Amino acid sequence: MAAGPIIGIDLGTTNSVVAFADERGPRVLGADDVTGGVVPSFARFGPSGEIEAIGHAAKSSAVEFADRTIHSAKRMMGRSMRDVAPDLETLAFSVEEGAHDTARFRVGEALISPQEVSAQILVELRRRAEQALGEAVERAVITVPAYFDDAQRQATRDAGRLAGLDVVRIVNEPTAAALAYGIGVRAAEEQRIVVFDLGGGTFDVSILLLSPGENAAGAEFFEVLSTAGDTRLGGDDVDRLIMRLLIDEMSGQFGTQLELSSLASEARQALRTFSEAAKVRLSEDAEAPVRIDLGDGRVFERALTRADLESLANDWIEQAMRCCDRALADAKLGVKDIDRVIMVGGSTRMPIVRDRVRAFFGVEPYTALDPDLVVALGAAVQASIVGGLDRSRLLLDVIPLSLGVETQGAAVAKMIMRNQMTPARATEMFTTSVDGQTSIKLHVLQGEREMVEDCRSLGEFHLSGLPPMPAGVPQLEVEFLVDANGVLNVSAFERRSGKRAALQVAPSHGLSREEVERMEEESFAHARDDMQRHRIVDLVTNSRLDIKWTREQLNRVGGKLASDVRTAIEDSLGALQKLIEQADTDWSSVDPGGFQQAKEALDRSTIRMHEISIAESLRADEEK
Ligand code: AMP
Repeated sequence: MAAGPIIGIDLGTTNSVVAFADERGPRVLGADDVTGGVVPSFARFGPSGEIEAIGHAAKSSAVEFADRTIHSAKRMMGRSMRDVAPDLETLAFSVEEGAHDTARFRVGEALISPQEVSAQILVELRRRAEQALGEAVERAVITVPAYFDDAQRQATRDAGRLAGLDVVRIVNEPTAAALAYGIGVRAAEEQRIVVFDLGGGTFDVSILLLSPGENAAGAEFFEVLSTAGDTRLGGDDVDRLIMRLLIDEMSGQFGTQLELSSLASEARQALRTFSEAAKVRLSEDAEAPVRIDLGDGRVFERALTRADLESLANDWIEQAMRCCDRALADAKLGVKDIDRVIMVGGSTRMPIVRDRVRAFFGVEPYTALDPDLVVALGAAVQASIVGGLDRSRLLLDVIPLSLGVETQGAAVAKMIMRNQMTPARATEMFTTSVDGQTSIKLHVLQGEREMVEDCRSLGEFHLSGLPPMPAGVPQLEVEFLVDANGVLNVSAFERRSGKRAALQVAPSHGLSREEVERMEEESFAHARDDMQRHRIVDLVTNSRLDIKWTREQLNRVGGKLASDVRTAIEDSLGALQKLIEQADTDWSSVDPGGFQQAKEALDRSTIRMHEISIAESLRADEEK
């Protein structure tokens, strides 16, 4: 068995984080001043499917390489094409159907599975961890949303394997958030905890029950009582509301009807940047000035106040609170039963969110830890429990959806019920319906509905090679076992013949065992790539593009810029160019942080140029 440290990983839809806990407590690994330890869950692939860039390097060039920069892979993991169909229209890359009805990303000639994309993110996190800890890392605890079903959990494990990590435990994100706060240490009585997770694009609320330890070790039990949420509710919506407000007011002021949808994509992106910046500023200040100078004597100026934002975002936050109502109803609890509320996700920094949550639950929400890091910190705490460092806490999770098998007439017989604690085991007897039948097919499903078509298919199992017997005589015992990770194992044996069948697993939406093994081999062959060199190469490529793009913009609108602004842009371009030349001569002498800083300086110096881009786009719109 592998030894060495066990790391905790928050493998997020938009951002991922790695952390580690020891006697000193949990801490984020690989954090620096520029990135704060957050790795965007973005991976850029080359035309033949080879990895080109991961994390920040991939995200910052996502506009230029939109068709081969993959993000949001987590939404597709362990899911079928039908499941992911609603997500597809907003994605700039193409998703196709692969084997077993899985969703795959098409990049040039290559079809890439979501697990492979996630594995690339995990490789980067593992690299950071190894660099920070100074030793090899082979084991990890990875978090998943509480509502993830078996196929999605299994896909997460597969991604870990592909990254060369033994995933020793899968833990629910809200449980990890509670652990990060050290909640429950020597708890004297039961507590009900709400985890309110509002990010950029999604909202999840979970209610956990913490029971004080009753076993010899004084361990505690976390149980997920209910989860609710909205996969299309997040901070991005608020950005859009602000963008609409600004565009409407500009229309009013300039006497032309402007539409968000008709803005050129650069102008829209620039407006989005201004809107998000104003929103973030309003979390600290009462007022955020917005000034967009169209350069033709027309200036749009507006002080956005916190009150403006609150009236804009009122319906938005109400939508989140309705999910809280649902979660409470599902858990058969009232607000008065809630002892603590934990805030997770960047949007919980907004005062309006904190105020509404406080008013709704009647308790002061926990906000001391960085909401972007809470889950990874908790995963690290869990890792230390698994590793034996911390024996004071034991985790128990529940099965989020019932598990069953298909029976006559496409109905579903439930074997393990929803909300049962893991590990859980159930056995059931089956027989044949036709004389001389030598094989039996078992279709495993997950869901609360009664009919096969309304449940989620997890896979089909074939027990073959039975001796021919009259119908109804064979006694086939099937066992379902959900282990501590919430992962399902199915086994079967025929009692009369004593035949223990080698079950052939044909996952409906996952990867086949052969595929995982093949990918694993491939990933080992590449895992030793020199990631640092890779990173520098990415940074150089991206910087070249930044320079090219900025020069094109300068050629177009540079004449309209004040000379000191142009000089500042030239200076930052020069600094970036110098780093590129240094890397070309000797890549090992370059500090990646230097590139990030030079890129930030470039971003700052080009704000005015973006404004002019917006203005040009608006003018073009007006002339139409
Ligand atoms: P997450 O998905 O958890 O990384 O959250 C990202 C979202 O949080 C984005 O919509 C950000 O604009 C938002 N966000 C981050 N920091 C702040 C802040 N200080 N105030 C308001 N929103 C923020």
